[in-house]
Amino acid sequence: MTAADTAALPGRSAADLVAAVGRMPDRHGDTISYSRKVFLPLTQLCRDVCHYCTFAHPPRRGERAYLPLDRVLDIARAGERAGCQEALFTLGDKPELRYTAARDELAMLGHETTLSYLAEACRQVLSHTSLLPHVNAGVMTPEDLAMLREVSVSQGLMLESSSERLMRRGGPHHGSPDKHPAVRLAMIREAGRLRIPFTTGLLIGIGETRGERVEALVALKRIHDEFGHLQEIIIQNFRAKPGTRMAAAAEPDAEELQWTIAAARLIFGAAMPIQSPPNLTPRDHRLLIDAGIDDWGGISPVTIDHVNPEAPWPAIDTLRQVSTAAGRTLVERLALYPRFARDPEKWVAAPLRAALLRASDADGFGRPDGWCAGRTEPPPPPRQPSGPPVAGNAVGQVLDRLARGAVAREDDIVALFAARGADVERVCAAADAQRRASVGDDVTYAVNCNLNYTNICRYACSFCAFSKASRRRGLRDDPYDLDLATIQERAVIARSRGATELCMQGGIHPRYDGNTYLAILAAVKEAVPELHVHAFSPLEVYHGATTLGIDVDRFLEKLAAAGLGSLPGTAAEILDDEVRAQICPDKLDTEQWLAVVEAAHRVGLRTTATIMFGHVDTSRHWARHLLRIRALQARTGGFTEFVPLPFVHDESPIFRAGRARRGPTWREAVLMHAVARLVLDPLIANIQVSWVKMGPDGARACLAAGANDLGGTLMRESISRAAGAAHGQELAPDEMRALIRSLGRTPRQRTTLYGDPTRPVAALAAAS
Ligand code: SF4
Repeated sequence: MTAADTAALPGRSAADLVAAVGRMPDRHGDTISYSRKVFLPLTQLCRDVCHYCTFAHPPRRGERAYLPLDRVLDIARAGERAGCQEALFTLGDKPELRYTAARDELAMLGHETTLSYLAEACRQVLSHTSLLPHVNAGVMTPEDLAMLREVSVSQGLMLESSSERLMRRGGPHHGSPDKHPAVRLAMIREAGRLRIPFTTGLLIGIGETRGERVEALVALKRIHDEFGHLQEIIIQNFRAKPGTRMAAAAEPDAEELQWTIAAARLIFGAAMPIQSPPNLTPRDHRLLIDAGIDDWGGISPVTIDHVNPEAPWPAIDTLRQVSTAAGRTLVERLALYPRFARDPEKWVAAPLRAALLRASDADGFGRPDGWCAGRTEPPPPPRQPSGPPVAGNAVGQVLDRLARGAVAREDDIVALFAARGADVERVCAAADAQRRASVGDDVTYAVNCNLNYTNICRYACSFCAFSKASRRRGLRDDPYDLDLATIQERAVIARSRGATELCMQGGIHPRYDGNTYLAILAAVKEAVPELHVHAFSPLEVYHGATTLGIDVDRFLEKLAAAGLGSLPGTAAEILDDEVRAQICPDKLDTEQWLAVVEAAHRVGLRTTATIMFGHVDTSRHWARHLLRIRALQARTGGFTEFVPLPFVHDESPIFRAGRARRGPTWREAVLMHAVARLVLDPLIANIQVSWVKMGPDGARACLAAGANDLGGTLMRESISRAAGAAHGQELAPDEMRALIRSLGRTPRQRTTLYGDPTRPVAALAAAS
């Protein structure tokens, strides 16, 4: 907005501003967020005397001045059980400066100030629950702000108004020194300097004019332009409360509220979250959306709104319905907004980053459930019934373009990964339809055996719980290095149990060289010549070639000549060096991985392609990964299948060090299969679901979302198990077939290269 446009705002009608908001390109996304929270009124004593407030009251006989810590934790734990992720501390401003009762009770609690007690309460919540604190603690010094930054992920202070008139005798802020606009603006500015994600906004209808509201918004915008730290602007409407000096004052009407929300949206643009509390406008939530909000604020299933105790929170279902009717998807956010959650190094104090990563998904929103890859818990039931898909939104536009034959680009893929609510089902349905058209209703599987010849590795990939350089405490397996006789023995057993494939890979043992891999291969082929050997990751191939001093092509030719059947496309992790620098800095980089795989295809060895996702990566990294795989396949046609491998976090060093998320969410894991189908098909026709990581229920969900292959029966599986996966070491062919038939699909055993096995498993099982 130009300065002239801004200056003209007070003269324009609410209808005019709302219409202007409706015309904004990319208005403010397809979602509306909210935070599931508990409200913790640490103290309701306050040194200020705002004339509209019922939150603050003087000390009462027989009543504690401060919530004791055990009560704080009781409330936080109740919230945790109800799925809350935010602990909102709202409290009066420095009551110890006014009340002896506050000073005495603080002394009893072992604190001199309310803010020091608040810091301890935040620490308790962080130590004993998964909730992330947000603090509204009034006007503070830079030192106080900095202290609370160490124990809270975001802070807030309503500017309320920039009008000094309201401080005069008779005004609502008379006698409340902390409400001086200059004082508040200075603190909001200081919060920016300290890189604190910050919530602020206006309280409208307390005597200010429209022009003064614009001045206040412009003042906030100026500060935000300098520091970028404002995470939301709240437009709160004054409610007249009995028992206050303003009990008889007129409340702002819906038109006034719409005018102010729309003015804020126009001044701040599409990117700034704008919130208006839905419990203060209970009769028509839709008017808030039309005016430009994209956040409902904190909603609590556990505690009341202590600032507006007369105004109950609306049901989350109600908000979902009104959001859907307005073409938006309701999304749960954390106490800090996604933009800040995605950049914790800048915005969040180091001690809080692990808790933040544990709580967040790849977009920086909250994890809506407890599902994690590799665990045996069933997938989450849908928390609420989904509404109909939203016509014409970003996801719909991409799906329509793809249905017309367009090739997905990076931004399209990112948009598909951002699908939420009914849009997730829409993406999955499109992928399922494409799968049916492309490969029909058969679900393939291979009868195979996994053999990891060593878990000793000279690399230290930070996600890897499999590798052992030494006996690390706390991780599952001791170091081992199988000899050739053991490898042969296992190959013979595998074949006798019907395996058509032996899948082999291992750590990069410091003593291994190219000849070691050739010897392992020769041993297996000598013991069981007909077994298809699917072995050696691109990293092992690279290591083998380097240690022999030959180029990768030459080494691959040697492996092919010795009987290697195909290669696993592992060690890909995320094919983007931004991510590799964090999780496997000394391993092959993206170009090297692609070069080894391209060389394999060149010498006639086919490979799979994998992605290991849900740790430090974002959906843009996933998009780049898919596009790199697709581009290589377009050149070589050498990939047999694409295998999403959700990160199993439990035993992973990077997770244990607090530097990774808890793997993908259920939504992300299922979407990965669906989006892969939409992006890679028809170049790659087979999308595999890993039952080890997803579990049987997850496998069913992914088979209904674009996947057509259930992978191998995996008579031994130690890499996922080392990472903490608990879905067992084997899914017998009978169980696989039953799982597939439960979906009304047709099971079909395949070879590694998707041919028909010459000896079906049933016959071999009978013979053995
Ligand atoms: S991922 Fe592979 S290369 Fe990296 S540490 Fe684990 S075993 Fe070694």
